[in-house]
Amino acid sequence: MRIKYKKLLLVAGITLITSFCFSEQVKADADPEIKADNYAMDVKLNTKRNQLNETVTITVKNNGQNSVKEVVVRNIAYGVLKYNRKHFKKHNKNVKTTVYSVSEEGKNLSYNYGEDHSNLYVTLPSDLKAGQSQAITLKLTTDVPYRKDRFGYQNIRGGKVYNLSFCFPYLSDYRNGQWNYHPYSDEGENRNNGVSNYHVSFYAPKSYKVAATGDNSIFNGKTTIEARDARDMAIVASNRFKVSHAKADGIVINNFYLPGKKSSNYNKLTKQTAIDSLKLFDKKVGKYPYKELDITEYPFNNSTGGMEYPGLIMISGNGFLNKKKSPNSYAYTELVGDVSHEVAHQWFYSTIGTDEYTEPWLDEGMAEFFEESVYGLTKTPSRTMQTKMMHVKFTDKDRRRLVKTFNAIIKMDIKDNKRSIINYPLNKIPKGKDEADIAYDTAKMFYDELMVAMGKQKFFQAMQDYYRTYYLKQTTGREFLNIIRKYDNSKKVNKIISNFIDPKYL
Ligand SMILES: [Zn+2]
Repeated sequence: MRIKYKKLLLVAGITLITSFCFSEQVKADADPEIKADNYAMDVKLNTKRNQLNETVTITVKNNGQNSVKEVVVRNIAYGVLKYNRKHFKKHNKNVKTTVYSVSEEGKNLSYNYGEDHSNLYVTLPSDLKAGQSQAITLKLTTDVPYRKDRFGYQNIRGGKVYNLSFCFPYLSDYRNGQWNYHPYSDEGENRNNGVSNYHVSFYAPKSYKVAATGDNSIFNGKTTIEARDARDMAIVASNRFKVSHAKADGIVINNFYLPGKKSSNYNKLTKQTAIDSLKLFDKKVGKYPYKELDITEYPFNNSTGGMEYPGLIMISGNGFLNKKKSPNSYAYTELVGDVSHEVAHQWFYSTIGTDEYTEPWLDEGMAEFFEESVYGLTKTPSRTMQTKMMHVKFTDKDRRRLVKTFNAIIKMDIKDNKRSIINYPLNKIPKGKDEADIAYDTAKMFYDELMVAMGKQKFFQAMQDYYRTYYLKQTTGREFLNIIRKYDNSKKVNKIISNFIDPKYL
């Protein structure tokens, strides 16, 4: 997610960073032992009732050593809807999700709810032994809340947009002999799933255009979605969308937008920023794993700039779609930031999987760093386009000065040697602080200091190693730090690590 928060804007609208001014052996042991090899989903969107009717078959494979008798399926929608009933009750006081059955080859299985009703403890008909697979099927209905958010629908221009994510059941994460899951967090994320293959049939009225994770084709109201090696599934459907396309390094970008005079700059800048970010991160870190990237644009709640899924990003259009107000310079700056940040999540969260709840500094901090300190300091066509649209001058000389200032500030920060811990889980963040302070702002500074202390060449070599090693796998902060130390185990780098990382939470 990209949280909007106050930043100091330079004259040219390039963001620079207020807080600076004062301021062995590697093994992917975090991959799940019990894994969902495949999801076959049949999802019908009822646009009259704002409801999903779902049949989801999960092929569960035991890649571990021991047999299991019970598996945990997460109906993640439960937590979101509970939150919405409480905090957005005007329109959502009755929203709910109901599981009708869990079965295997037509035979009903018994299951219990955990303390958090998102968790279904399903008893398998027979032990799932090492190396074996079983397919379990859930039938359920889930209401779509009325909310401009990652799960919700909104009325727009006489039509509707449905954001469908955080709503599809998935197999919980199982490692080291236990099921790992986290409560719903509206500010942050609580996903921690392994990659899987999705085959989805999604039904909506014929007038709807559909964006989704993976490759999709639409015919007569049925969208067929094939997503290989995807960590999650997200679908966005609207009967007001138009689509335009672009390409970057052979990757097809499908841009779903609401047409109108006001949105033409917004579309152009979004697409160009996505192209530039994809190319830049491809070069700096490693190849984007998919053939396509879908971008959806429409109003979002005011505190969110965008949201990331494998092969799909949602981007807020709030600064551009207001009928009365013209976009101000803040809107342009936010837009390039939002797009670049969400594209960076394709590398950090989607391809390299990490636990978004216990270690948000790994995905959010990294996305923030790539947005501001990599994309933000590089000369790209989208930055030129942005400054032109804002009618400001930003010359190559200005950019060089900006990079110089950045380096000087970071060097000063390293010298200052202040302690500021970033690796709190979401439920352990100290009072008076929030995720934006810690996992975004301060975590970005950690990566800034590493890059400057190690030098760009060594730092990006380490990032490429990190990417290759955990490509489409899951990893942890401990493993990330091992890779950094493999490239630079100096006193200086270790000092930076101990200033930002509390070993207690590793
Ligand atoms: Zn984010």
